[in-house]
Amino acid sequence: MDIQIVLSVLAEMRRLRPRDHWTRQQLEAHQADALRDLRGYAYAHSPFYQQFHQGLYNAPLHELPVLTKEMLMEHFNELVTDRAIRLEEVKTHMSNLTGDERFLGRYWVNATSGSSGHPGVFLFNRAEWITVLTSFARACEWGGVRVDLTHRIKTATVASTAAFHMSTRVNATAHSWWMPEIRLAASEPVEIIVERLNAWQPEVLIAYASMMRILADEQLAGRLQIRPRAVFTSSEVLTEETRRRIVQAWGERLFNQYAATESGSLAAECDHHRGMHLMEDLVIIEVVDQDNRPVPPGVYGDKLLITVLGSRTQPLIRYELDDSVRLATTPCPSGHPFALIDAIQGRVEDVLTFPGVAEGVVHVHPLVFSRIMDTLPVSGWQVIQEAGGLRVLLSGVRGEFEDGTLLGTLRQALAEQGAKVPRVEVQRVASIPKTAAGKAPLIKSNLSHSSLLSDTLDSGVRVQEAL
Ligand SMILES: [Zn+2]
Repeated sequence: MDIQIVLSVLAEMRRLRPRDHWTRQQLEAHQADALRDLRGYAYAHSPFYQQFHQGLYNAPLHELPVLTKEMLMEHFNELVTDRAIRLEEVKTHMSNLTGDERFLGRYWVNATSGSSGHPGVFLFNRAEWITVLTSFARACEWGGVRVDLTHRIKTATVASTAAFHMSTRVNATAHSWWMPEIRLAASEPVEIIVERLNAWQPEVLIAYASMMRILADEQLAGRLQIRPRAVFTSSEVLTEETRRRIVQAWGERLFNQYAATESGSLAAECDHHRGMHLMEDLVIIEVVDQDNRPVPPGVYGDKLLITVLGSRTQPLIRYELDDSVRLATTPCPSGHPFALIDAIQGRVEDVLTFPGVAEGVVHVHPLVFSRIMDTLPVSGWQVIQEAGGLRVLLSGVRGEFEDGTLLGTLRQALAEQGAKVPRVEVQRVASIPKTAAGKAPLIKSNLSHSSLLSDTLDSGVRVQEAL
């Protein structure tokens, strides 16, 4: 462990704490200063941004072009601000990664799991990495778990154990600071995870939403017997029913968090549980529609544009994340100056496309499925779109329940959306298959992405509002 890093994170926490009490004006003044510094640095040191923002150096943020992951990866070597960084060498470094090693001795490398086929690679220098660690520590603290040197907390994390994954990398740096800690691979059998958690008795439990729901069911069934002080979910959509079960299992101590490999924690819940506060002092977040126009509170956006204020090695300015989130219309009583998101409904890739009855195609939002599936007495579910229609997986079915009724409800919901109803099939399985990263997405399409994309482009049909 690097004690200097731990001390730096604690110092950074002390610096950030007063910001919870800032006024909105103070926050906006800080954002303006930090954005000016970021852009100045990018224009001085990144050949990519010199071109990309040419003629726009003084333009307001919302007039700047949007940066996609594909662009970032394609222009990687020109976008970074250190000319010693070459993507090919970064990739070699990643494939040999086992612990807390740094690329060129100074960069922590993280990568997205690449579920959409194009992994993104992100480098952090020491100051940037401290900000990432601090964002996670702040998310814990908003959940009532204060992190310092004298209060070490017995933690259990059930997640991906891939070495380049951010949760693994954060842990590798913070290891003995967080100690004692156990990490369990989400891909292990549930019985093993339950057995190890019972033996460990963590004070803090961290897991993906799908895994936490399974563990809550295990607790409710009496097989898992732990009493954590706080339970943190992240990285997946947390549905109402999953939240209800977790609260039933352990009480009102569930804190959802929204994090991205690009920046660390982006938003986290405070103890008023009104939604997640965006960490707007670290990242400027725009909730926008398909055409990058701002979307008002109360309406789901199609994606987010993030500007990571502390990014210097790999400046991220209006970088696109394809998560559909909704800003809350009512403020949280905590008085934080940070805007609140009250719902995340998944990624654009979770929107399924069906041939329409009246027109070319209709787009069905994840919520159409989750509000039906979520009420079932099951520990896990997944809706898979395939060439032949829809396959619905159910795991851990409890008690009597008719597949026929579910089929009828699903068909009706699709018909109401204007879709030509496809073949729908229910399949009961021992467990929902997990991705390489250990996640269990609720909605999945096995149709090729390019065909879906061309559908969307051809039809010009607006994404249908689900609620
Ligand atoms: Zn709050």
